[in-house]
Amino acid sequence: MQNIVTDGIILKRKNYAEADRILDIYTNNLGKISAIAKGSRKLTSKKSGHLELGNVVQFDLIPGKNMFIIAGAKIKDRHQFIDLKQMKALFLWLEIVDTLIHHNEPCNQTFDLACKGLIAASQINDRPMQSALVELKLYDLLGYRMNLNECLIGGESLVEGRQCFLSMHKGGLVCELHKDEDASIKASVNIIKILRLVHFGNWDILDRLHACADVINELREIVEGQRHYIVGKKLKSEM
Ligand SMILES: [Zn+2]
Repeated sequence: MQNIVTDGIILKRKNYAEADRILDIYTNNLGKISAIAKGSRKLTSKKSGHLELGNVVQFDLIPGKNMFIIAGAKIKDRHQFIDLKQMKALFLWLEIVDTLIHHNEPCNQTFDLACKGLIAASQINDRPMQSALVELKLYDLLGYRMNLNECLIGGESLVEGRQCFLSMHKGGLVCELHKDEDASIKASVNIIKILRLVHFGNWDILDRLHACADVINELREIVEGQRHYIVGKKLKSEM
């Protein structure tokens, strides 16, 4: 069988046998796959430095019986994850992608977003809003689009100035009267505008977006709410 060359992000690594590693990789052409890197834990291995979490790597893969065999690996993009905040953002992003992306379902758009999430994690100190935007866009792409027009329950129009809430359970905006007590988060006019941009705007616009600390905190709360609703629990990297 022929080798397959594809870009990929390493989501998870575990040691195997004496000197091997098994990797879960989210690839552009094959979707999420498992692959073995033989001898990669040997100090002399040329591959080992390239197989770090957070790198975008061009892989040369041989289809094997149970999993792919990594024949070559070349770094395409390397981002800096130096401090604790960057590392935490990276691990969270990798876990989100690993949890929500199924095996063998390639999608260029989702893969590009997964790569953008790496950049956002590495820039979390200077551009704290970007990681939340990338995460919201991922949920949007995966089919968890929130309804942002009228109240989902009563159908009242939610004109500016009226207090709105986001209900994760119902999947969108509700008015004060129809919010459910335990699972609704207050949503300001600015937040609703940002969420609409996530749904309908392209990435060039989102990439230039800035907001004050209050709005960023509000956005974080919403993205966390959506994450916990979709995944059904807190992720390990959040503990
Ligand atoms: Zn209502």
